[in-house]
Amino acid sequence: MNNTLDFQGYTILIIDDTPANLGVMVEHLEVCGCRVVVAQDGEEGIKRAQFIQPDLIFLDVMMPGMDGFETCHQLSMLADTRNIPVIFMTALTETADKIKGFAAGGVDFISKPFQIEEVLARANIHLALRKAQRELEAKNVQLQAEVSFREGQARILEMIATQAPLTEVFERLIRLIEHNSSGALGSVLLLNRDGVHIDLCVAPGLPEAYCTALVGIAIGPQVGSCGTAMFRRETVVVTNIETDPLWSDYRSLALNYGLRACWSTPILSPEGPALGSFALYYKTVHGPTPADLALIELATHSAGIAIQRYQTQARIQHMAHHDALTDLPNRILLEDRLNQAIVQARRDQNHVGVLFIDLDHFKHVNDSLGHHVGDALLMEVAQRLRACVREGDSVARIGGDEFIISLPRLADSHNSAQVAEKIVATLSSAIQLNGHDLHIGASIGISLYPEDGEDANTLLRAADTAMYNAKEKGRNNYKFFTAAMNEAAQQRLVTTTRLRKALVQQEFVLHYQPQVSLKSGAIIGVEALLRWNNPELGMVLPSRFIPMLESTGLINEVGEWVLRMACEQSMAWQREGLPPVRMAVNLSAHQFQTGDIVRVVKQALDETGLNPKQLELEITESVILDSSELIIGALHALKKLGVTLSLDDFGTGYSSLSYLQRFPIDRVKIDRSFIDKVTADAGSAAIVCSILDLSRNLGLDCIAEGVETSLQMGYLQNQLCSEIQGFLFSKALPAPELAAMLRADCRLPMMPPNT
Ligand code: C2E
Ligand code: MG
Ligand code: MG
Repeated sequence: MNNTLDFQGYTILIIDDTPANLGVMVEHLEVCGCRVVVAQDGEEGIKRAQFIQPDLIFLDVMMPGMDGFETCHQLSMLADTRNIPVIFMTALTETADKIKGFAAGGVDFISKPFQIEEVLARANIHLALRKAQRELEAKNVQLQAEVSFREGQARILEMIATQAPLTEVFERLIRLIEHNSSGALGSVLLLNRDGVHIDLCVAPGLPEAYCTALVGIAIGPQVGSCGTAMFRRETVVVTNIETDPLWSDYRSLALNYGLRACWSTPILSPEGPALGSFALYYKTVHGPTPADLALIELATHSAGIAIQRYQTQARIQHMAHHDALTDLPNRILLEDRLNQAIVQARRDQNHVGVLFIDLDHFKHVNDSLGHHVGDALLMEVAQRLRACVREGDSVARIGGDEFIISLPRLADSHNSAQVAEKIVATLSSAIQLNGHDLHIGASIGISLYPEDGEDANTLLRAADTAMYNAKEKGRNNYKFFTAAMNEAAQQRLVTTTRLRKALVQQEFVLHYQPQVSLKSGAIIGVEALLRWNNPELGMVLPSRFIPMLESTGLINEVGEWVLRMACEQSMAWQREGLPPVRMAVNLSAHQFQTGDIVRVVKQALDETGLNPKQLELEITESVILDSSELIIGALHALKKLGVTLSLDDFGTGYSSLSYLQRFPIDRVKIDRSFIDKVTADAGSAAIVCSILDLSRNLGLDCIAEGVETSLQMGYLQNQLCSEIQGFLFSKALPAPELAAMLRADCRLPMMPPNT
């Protein structure tokens, strides 16, 4: 039987005052493989039990001094002995004694004199029980640890969710892991967005100097445990820093602080480079158990969630303060920075400059070449603007083609003019996109703190007003804000309101001035001329309000109305049975620069049903002098619709007739100023002659405007001018009066040509 028992690894304590009894017992127990310790009395027994922590105690009841029951009772009162099973050995056989023994905490009785087989059999049972109990305890401890770990984890997730600072989350996480892996010192490293350099080291248990030394290090294939783990994107376990080649460059740094082992796992994002690493250091040469590795994986996972969450948060923040297309600050951020700059400037007694930049032909590019080209253009502009400023200055995009630059800490207000000049220069050089050479200028308004305003809003408004002024004064330049501009801006506001009201309340009307043939004297066309029938001012002529419509941008709306109205009128006359005549409509250069002119014309034709051949569009030299591809493209598109184009007020600009060949022009209108003096001034006469000559050679038709006298008409007739328009025949008339003229077939009394 003895042979089958195996007490290997167990320790048994025997407490008995008569050692002679014990010889056999010790011998047999030792044969079974266990360690046997003996004590002579209760007190010694308790001490030994505390010290050696036996798995089982045999305890004699009858001993001098403290008897067995008392000894057992005391053992059961002590924390480190209370769970050790005690078997009484006694000659007492009374049931009452046994009850007393169990009450004292004993688990069993062996009667003296004992049979060794019984001793061994009982030892076997209680050791097995003890073993099971130990295992249960261990399991319990493990379960408790797991629960507390999960609680710790939940707390960390809660911190992430409530956006506790990232370093606090990491510290908590590290403490949790350290608590669960004895001797471990945790660290979290964060990698810079460049994916190469270490930005941050959180390691509450490591010396601060060590952490500081890690910041800025570039990761690589042999950069300690963490640098290598992040580089390789896999776990790196170094059990002995002293000998591992991965640590060759950083060995002395780690050993200096007593760090001997380091296992690191990279924190990976689904895409792109590693975000950072989680590592455990040890002060002894040390390798991980599978449980350690599982723990590290868990920590790495939590750290990854935290980092990604914070990155998303940062991205949202960034999006709220930046323009999505150019990534420049938006208005919110700009105002914030501007206000900060103002506070600083107030303290340091210097200036802040605000530049309001508006691109000159942007809408045009967008409308004619499409949004993708427009977007690419804005990105290029953003790039060029950034290159014009110093670090600390802010370039922001606040709307379609509007940019703001704030220049803090200006020692001298003239510095802002230098920046503005730089911008005008850089934006006036062509931008090449999609095979197009885009010429885009900028108009810039400048305001200054403290001269023009004390807060961001006032300064922005002042710069906006100055920009407006720059635009009016002929684009591609800059203007400083002045108080006078403010008044002008106020005035403009009043006028805009009035003009807008005029449009809504239908105070605009068209008058029509006939154009007649010098061959037949018959009316061959009319020019629609705009009038403002204002209840207070009476009939206002265009020279007084067209510039205002242009400067307020209302010209696009009003121009659209004019086109529509003129086409409708022409159709109305035709429906009345009047002979169809050409309808000439004036277009402003603004309608080419900021309006969608081709669409507007097409729509007017489509919606009224007017034959495009009967519509003539009068453009001025200022339109074609801006010989950008976009304008030429628009002119060709208009021609394609079937309308004719005439060049109004010819001779007053700078274009030569040969220059006109580049444009799809049908007719030239000789300006009134030459006709006025044609019979009195040889120079004017010569100009008129050469215009008529050249246009004939180029195959262009010609009309003379402002013909007031028969003398003028006679001269033009002699020079073979084919058409005239002017007070000689008629001024511009309301529609019904012109209809009457058409109906009556009024003709110009013709003179026989001079010979
Ligand atoms: P314009 O296109 O050169 O129009 C001819 C102008 O000369 C008209 O002045 C007309 O009344 C005037 N006129 C015609 N014959 C004679 C004449 O024999 N002697 C004199 N002294 N003047 C004559 P109005 O109507 O005041 O228009 C002035 C300018 O306003 C126009 O010059 C045109 O540039 C602009 N305009 C008129 N209506 C519109 C319009 O609907 N849209 C746009 N964008 N501009 C318009
Ligand atoms: Mg005209
Ligand atoms: Mg004219």
